[in-house]
Parts: sequence; structure tokens; C-alpha cells
Amino acid sequence: MAVKIGISACVLGDKVRFDGGHKASAFCTQQLQPLVQYIAVCPEQAIGMGVPRPAIRLQRDAQQHIKLVQSRDNNLDYTEQMLAFTSQVLPRFAELSGYIVCAKSPTCGMERVKLYDAEGNALGKVAIGIYTRQLMQTYPWLPIEEDGRLLDPALKENFISRVFACNDYQRTMHDGFTVGKLVAFHSRYKFLVMAHSPVAYRQLGKLVAEAKLFQPAELQLRYLNELMQAMRNIATRKQHANVLQHLQGFLKKLMDSPARQELTDLIDRYRVGRVPLLAPITLLQHYLRLYPNSYLQQQVYFNPYPEQLGLRA
Ligand code: SF4
Repeated sequence: MAVKIGISACVLGDKVRFDGGHKASAFCTQQLQPLVQYIAVCPEQAIGMGVPRPAIRLQRDAQQHIKLVQSRDNNLDYTEQMLAFTSQVLPRFAELSGYIVCAKSPTCGMERVKLYDAEGNALGKVAIGIYTRQLMQTYPWLPIEEDGRLLDPALKENFISRVFACNDYQRTMHDGFTVGKLVAFHSRYKFLVMAHSPVAYRQLGKLVAEAKLFQPAELQLRYLNELMQAMRNIATRKQHANVLQHLQGFLKKLMDSPARQELTDLIDRYRVGRVPLLAPITLLQHYLRLYPNSYLQQQVYFNPYPEQLGLRA
């Protein structure tokens, strides 16, 4: 099951923007492209707005409804057309594992989109693009990120981790959900979840332990929602160091004293920012090859996404 990612067509380099241009993201078109299958959508083009076209914006009316209108003539209202398109296309996206949207767009923006009143006064960067708002409501678990935010290494790493975890869960449950599969999946994700959120680590563990209390369909969705919510937290150096110490604890009786000290020092140097995460992880993996431990070796924490993305270096 390929990793399918929805994407604003302009972010993929299609010249579909109102001014005839594009917003190609080098990360999406070069690094990520070989590893995923993109589903490119330009909602404005899909509802028949031409290229180039007059600029549009979000407007709040007296009843607090948000509409998509033409900037120069707000009598030209595209809201109903856009909502009709959205209701038609979104049901096809249940197999997506992520979505990359174009920032600031009144259609595709994920946050901080400019909002105006009917008189044209700016109300601040407080809205969500009309298409992406529906996408988020339909699939609350779906990892969604904006092109601009992917330039931030921590946000990029976080988004990619969520995408590959989401896809792993979808593949695992593809031919039917069982509690046994959930227990096995959760067992592989324990340390990755702990790195993102120690609180969520305990909550997800409790959810899995109480699996028999839920209807399977409810539990399948609830676990995915809670996992994706937990992984939205950026895994800090302190939390990674905590996880690394936990992992070291499984091996410490097998390692001699100098080896233990070397690993402890490396984890400390990672904690204070002197070496990248890859350094202590590589050393831990070396000791796992010397002293195999099937529970640790299956941990997704060691390889949450394809290595060639280079996100831990
Ligand atoms: S932001 Fe969305 S609607 Fe605008 S050009 Fe890009 S894909 Fe099309």
C-alpha cells in the first residue's frame, strides 16, 4: 500500500495559481516524491476558475458565516461551488496518509489565512482555507502540513513521522482490524510515542489495555486519532534523551562498564545539542546487533521513516 499524500497542485509545481504561477516546494518535488504517491488537487481550478483568475478571499458575513468571494467584487461568491466540490472529492481520500497544502490561500491554507468583513476591512490572519477546513473536519486524524512550515526541520520531521506512522497503521489494519493487531502495532510504537509525548504514551497504553471495552470500529478510529494527536507534539531533545536512556536500560546488564559509559556520554552530548540524534541511535543499534533483543529491534523509533530523507542527521 503506497504512501499516498494529497497535495495542493501548485506546491507540486503546477502553474495553477491565480497569477499563472506555482509554489513548487523543493522538498516535495525532489526528496519526498520518490517515496510517496501524490494526489494533486487544485480546488479553484477544479470548480472552473481559470488561470489566471481574479484574486479571491475569505469574508465573514453578518451571520458569522465565512464565504469565499472575489476580492474586487464580493458579489461574486464561490462558496457553494467550493463546498459542493469538497463534498464530492473528500470521500475519495480515506486512504491518504497525509496532505500538504499551500500556505495563506483562502482555499488551501491550514491556518493564519487573512479574513475580511463585507466592507473589505481586514479582521486578521485568523481563518482556515475553505477546502482545508472541510478536509480537517472530515479526517481529523490526517497529518496535514503547509509548504512553508516544511522548511522548518523540526516541523518537517514531525510531519513525515506522522505520515509514515499513519500509513503503517492503515496498512496493518487494511484487511481487517483485530485487537491482536492493535496490541502488536502499539508494542512497536511505544518508544516513538514516548518521545513525542510521555502523557500520551500512558493514555494510549491504557486505551490498548482496555480494548475489550470498545466496539472494534470505534477503537480502530479512536486509536488512530489519539496516536496522530500524540505525534503532533514535537519530540524534544530532552524527551528523546529520556527514550534513549530507557532503551539503554534494556542492554545495560549486557554491556561492560566502558561501553555503558560511552553510551551514557553520547546520550548526554545529544541532550545538550553537541551531536545529532543519529549518533546515540547508531551506537544503540550497534549494541542491539551484538546483543539481539527482538522487542527493541522491532521498535519503529529506530527507523520511523525512510533513511534517505536524512531527517535525523
Ligand atoms: S493554493 Fe490551492 S487553490 Fe490556490 S493554486 Fe494552489 S492548489 Fe490551487
